Amino acid sequence: MSSFVTGQIIEARCSRCRDVTGHVVMACLDGMPIKVECRACGSVHKYAAPSAAPRPKAETTVRVKAGHGRAEAVDATVKAEKAVERMASMAAEKKAAPRISKAEQASMRMAEENEQRWSQAMATIVGTAEPYNMNGKFAVRALVEHPVFGTGVVVELFPPDKMDVLFREGVKRLRCAC
Ligand SMILES: [Zn+2]
Repeated sequence: MSSFVTGQIIEARCSRCRDVTGHVVMACLDGMPIKVECRACGSVHKYAAPSAAPRPKAETTVRVKAGHGRAEAVDATVKAEKAVERMASMAAEKKAAPRISKAEQASMRMAEENEQRWSQAMATIVGTAEPYNMNGKFAVRALVEHPVFGTGVVVELFPPDKMDVLFREGVKRLRCAC
């Protein structure tokens, strides 16, 4: 084999390009290049003969053995990214949680107001509560005794067959024959 000189352009295996590319010999020892610069990617590395076993093959073998072909590896990366996205969106939902609890607080306030309205109605309306009956006739401010909601007061009528009744737990729209 002829000897090499610094500055000579030779074919060598590039570890970055993973291919045989043109290289500029940067340093020689005993007529053999020891350091070369790849003209394709510009990386400076140890000289590897073009016939040297290509690294990609060896890597592919290892990857296939481990069950991670390139396609699988890419797929795993995509899955990992999606998992990260999911975690990020879950974190965002957690951050949004205070808003939900504010809504809950609002509904609790409404429930309290309802209960106050109900208490006032119970205190001011004198009369006997009529047992609720979906065929019964009720008037506004009439007291109704419901088996589930307890005592309530009729607040609004929706002829021909509905009425709103304020109970301790809130206003319920009930059937009636108003
Ligand atoms: Zn290269």
